[in-house]
Amino acid sequence: VGGILKEPPMHVVHIAVEMAPIAKVGGLGDIVTSLSRAVQDLNHNVNIVFPKYDCLKFEHVTDFHYQRCYSWGGTEIEVWIGKVEGLSVYFLDPQNGFFSTGCVYGRGNDAQRFGFFCHAALEFLHQSGFHPDIIHCHDWSSAPVAWLLKDHYMHYDGLSKSRVVFTIHNLEFGAHFIAKAMVYADKATTVSHTYSKEVAGNPAIAPHLHKFHGILNGIDLDIWDPFNDKFIPVSYNSENVIEGKQAAKKALQQRLGLKKSDLPLVGIISRLTHQKGIHLIKHAISRTLELNGQVVLLGSAPDPRIQNDFVNLANQLHSSHADRARLCLNYDEPLSHLIYAGSDFILVPSIFEPCGLTQLTAMRYGSIPVVRKTGGAYSSLNNVLLKCTNTVFRLLLPQGLYDTVFDVDNDKARAEAQGLEPNGFNFDGADGSGVDYALNRAITAWYGARDWFNSLCKTVMEQDWSWNRPALEYIELYHATKK
Ligand code: ADP
Repeated sequence: VGGILKEPPMHVVHIAVEMAPIAKVGGLGDIVTSLSRAVQDLNHNVNIVFPKYDCLKFEHVTDFHYQRCYSWGGTEIEVWIGKVEGLSVYFLDPQNGFFSTGCVYGRGNDAQRFGFFCHAALEFLHQSGFHPDIIHCHDWSSAPVAWLLKDHYMHYDGLSKSRVVFTIHNLEFGAHFIAKAMVYADKATTVSHTYSKEVAGNPAIAPHLHKFHGILNGIDLDIWDPFNDKFIPVSYNSENVIEGKQAAKKALQQRLGLKKSDLPLVGIISRLTHQKGIHLIKHAISRTLELNGQVVLLGSAPDPRIQNDFVNLANQLHSSHADRARLCLNYDEPLSHLIYAGSDFILVPSIFEPCGLTQLTAMRYGSIPVVRKTGGAYSSLNNVLLKCTNTVFRLLLPQGLYDTVFDVDNDKARAEAQGLEPNGFNFDGADGSGVDYALNRAITAWYGARDWFNSLCKTVMEQDWSWNRPALEYIELYHATKK
């Protein structure tokens, strides 16, 4: 790795459809921003080409200005430039209204809109005279970049030397696009080692293992920094973690109208989809209340039936447990910071999780992750079909959770092999008894072994889940595309 730091700077262009904090739906948005910043910090030149959605959070864009206009695909496309978290972003605004839809996804023609965007982005790079070393695309939504570049732009000087890196954040969506991009990409990655092994047998991946790598995601230490976070009341690091978290818990209780007493507080921050283990989330809420804890859920469901179901649950709990349960069924980035800081535990009971950022962010804020580790009895049987709240799933290991959370009672050796102390509670299986096994131990420790629990908070805060190492692995991979 030392050697790659001496190599000349590269020009990397990400073509992506989510970016935190201007248009983030899930982890993809976090990663586009934080990976770009980490690589830029290592002195490479990084740009992002992005749709100019009408719903962009423009307050997070600085130096925003119109640059020029070009014609492509039967429409005029305006190019706007701005800075987001210190990154130079080119915003494309086609006048055909493709990105004036009030949302990132969910218009029924997402594949058409994003396919158009990918081609328009390459055309923009070509017409602007860019010579990027690497064009990095992500998931099904910018997968077309891989083949559009090779099919249409390789004979142009500017782009003929560009190499494509394709990252799979979630193989569950857009399998057809992903399979095709795997053929054309020079290198492909996915977001944890265990997930890369899990999907190695997938017909989209299997023929391309020679160019496929697992690189764990990191979190951006500047964006997620309890010592410098305007959304929490007291700045803290591992030295004053207990004081900082107590103040954050009080502020959270105050803001959500919960009883301001010292009770164990379980936080859940999640898209509410079956992937995230909805039945386990509901079970954990009741179990926490039975154990006299408080619970705060921040989440929203793209499926209106699931959203309604949670609205009903919220109404019920807000009357039966007004002082101990609060479900906030929307998307709220500032509130998520206060929950990460003010919770004792962050629960992530996903049915599958390619990497998962929530448990990493939790640790950065000194909250202890409680996560689902394996499919238990089913885990050895990949591709087992599980009937799960009316949806049929392939039951896989929650891969990234396995790679990053090591149980305090059961995973000492596995943690040690990674040079780490155990850092959380995990459970097997996909039913309530698994959740109980982890939550009971977690909450019992909180009540009965507070000194030990406090030292665990300090330990997890000191673990390094940043981009420090993964960014170097990406840079090494970028260089390897040329070999
Ligand atoms: P996924 O990409 O599958 O949604 P990740 O764990 O990789 O899962 O990333 C989820 C990201 O989205 C985290 O940064 C989490 O804090 C954030 N998040 C999820 N739901 C919400 C919400 N309702 N409000 C604010 N942030 C949320």
